Amino acid sequence: MSMRLGVVGFGTMGSEIALLGACAGMDVAAYDAYPGALEQGMKRLAKLAKMLARDEKFFAAAHVATDEGREGVLARIRAATGLDGLAECDYVIEAAPETLELKQAVFSELSKHCRPDALFATNTSSIGISEIATSATHPERVVGMHFFNPPTLMQLIEVVAGLNTGEAAVEAALGLAKALGKKGIRVKETPGFIVNRVLTAMMNEAITLLEEGVASMEDIDDAMRLGAGFPLGPFKLADLVGLDVYTRVCDTIYQELGREKFRPPFTLRRYVRAGRLGRKTKLGFYKY
Ligand code: NAD
Repeated sequence: MSMRLGVVGFGTMGSEIALLGACAGMDVAAYDAYPGALEQGMKRLAKLAKMLARDEKFFAAAHVATDEGREGVLARIRAATGLDGLAECDYVIEAAPETLELKQAVFSELSKHCRPDALFATNTSSIGISEIATSATHPERVVGMHFFNPPTLMQLIEVVAGLNTGEAAVEAALGLAKALGKKGIRVKETPGFIVNRVLTAMMNEAITLLEEGVASMEDIDDAMRLGAGFPLGPFKLADLVGLDVYTRVCDTIYQELGREKFRPPFTLRRYVRAGRLGRKTKLGFYKY
C-alpha cells in the first residue's frame, strides 16, 4: 500500500510539498483553512509539473514528462475538508502560517484524529519545535522539517529535533526526506537552524563592510561570487529573500542568542522602513 502523506496549508510551501509526495508515489491528503486554496494551488501545480518535467535537477522529472504521467501524479493529491481528513496519514507536514498559536492548534487537533505513531512535521522557519510540540499528544513524534523555497527544486531539508523529539521521529523524517528526493540534515533545535544562522551572519557582515566604506556593494557581491564560489553575492541574496523577511530572521536569532553579529544593521532597518524590500518591491539594495 502507498504511504499516506498529509499536508496542512496549501500555500507556497505546502502545495509543492504535496506535489513532491505525489511524485514519490504517496497518496496525499491536503487541507487548507481557506476555501479555494486547493483549487488555486492545483492549477499552479499543473503548470509547475510541466516545467519540472524539463528540469533535470527534479528527482521525478520522468514521472511528469507526459500528460498521463502528470495527470496520474496530480490525481494522487486529494482535498481534505478538515483535519479529520488526515486521520489515516503516516506522515503529516504542516506548512500553515508562521504563528505559534496556529501551529499548536493544528497539532492539537491532529492529535485527536491521527494514529499515535503518525509523524508530525512542521515546516516552521523560526518557531521552536519544542514549543509547538507541547500541543500534541505524544510530543516525541513532533519534528521540524525545514524545506527551502522552492521545495520542488531545493535539495535540502533541515530535520530539526526539539527537546522531546524522539530518535524514531528523526529517523522517520530523514527517511521521508530521502523518499521526497531530498538530502535531510540532522539539526538540534537552535534559532535559525544551520542555513539561516550562517546566512544572516554573513549578510550582516557584508552590510557592515558597506557601512564602513570598505568596498561598494557590487564589489562585495563579486568578491563572494568569484572568491568564495557563491552563486549570488550577499546583497543580491538579501534582495531575493526580502529585506523584511531577512530582518525578522535576524531579530529572532538576536533575541534568542544576544550575539551582536545577528543584530540587524542600521542600514537594513532603514531600507525596510522605506519600503525597499528587495525584488518583490522592485527596489532593495539593487533596482529591478
Ligand atoms: P503561505 O502563506 O504561502 O501558505 C500558508 C497557507 O496556509 C495558506 O494557503 C493559508 O490559506 C493556509 N492556512 C492559514 N491558516 C490555516 C490553518 N489554520 N490551517 C490550515 N491552513 C491554513 O505560507 P508559506 O510561505 O507556504 O509558509 C508556510 C510555512 O512554511 C511557514 O511556517 C513558513 O515560515 C515556512 N517556510 C516558508 C518558506 C518560504 O520561503 N515561503 C521557506 C521555509 C519555510
